[in-house]
Amino acid sequence: MQYLLQNFTHPTVDQIYADLLPDMPTLSKATVYNTLKLFVDKKAVKAIYIDERNVRYDAQTRLHAHFKCRRCNTIREVPLEESDVPPFRGTPDLQLVETQIYYLGICGKCAEQQRTVSTILVQ
Ligand SMILES: [Zn+2]
Ligand SMILES: [Zn+2]
Repeated sequence: MQYLLQNFTHPTVDQIYADLLPDMPTLSKATVYNTLKLFVDKKAVKAIYIDERNVRYDAQTRLHAHFKCRRCNTIREVPLEESDVPPFRGTPDLQLVETQIYYLGICGKCAEQQRTVSTILVQ
């Protein structure tokens, strides 16, 4: 939990495991999975499904949305106001638990690289 509170980088299980292992040599990946599951169940941590290859974990409690770069898969936080959240228009039998807002696009770094590549191609 301390790790997640110090790393708002939306780490994957593999990243968390690799970062904690040097300090906790007896740690198993199953323990990381189970602990994260417990945190998610207790709503201390959010599981983020923006990345189709890996679940990301987020202990940031402040309301925010996520932006994923389609090229490098970097996930960045973007501000979100309560009034930005679209109203839930489901039928009464659907119980809303959580709303997550994702944006997909190209990050500044990748856009810059793209520009450089285009310039080389043009020359
Ligand atoms: Zn990018
Ligand atoms: Zn986040």
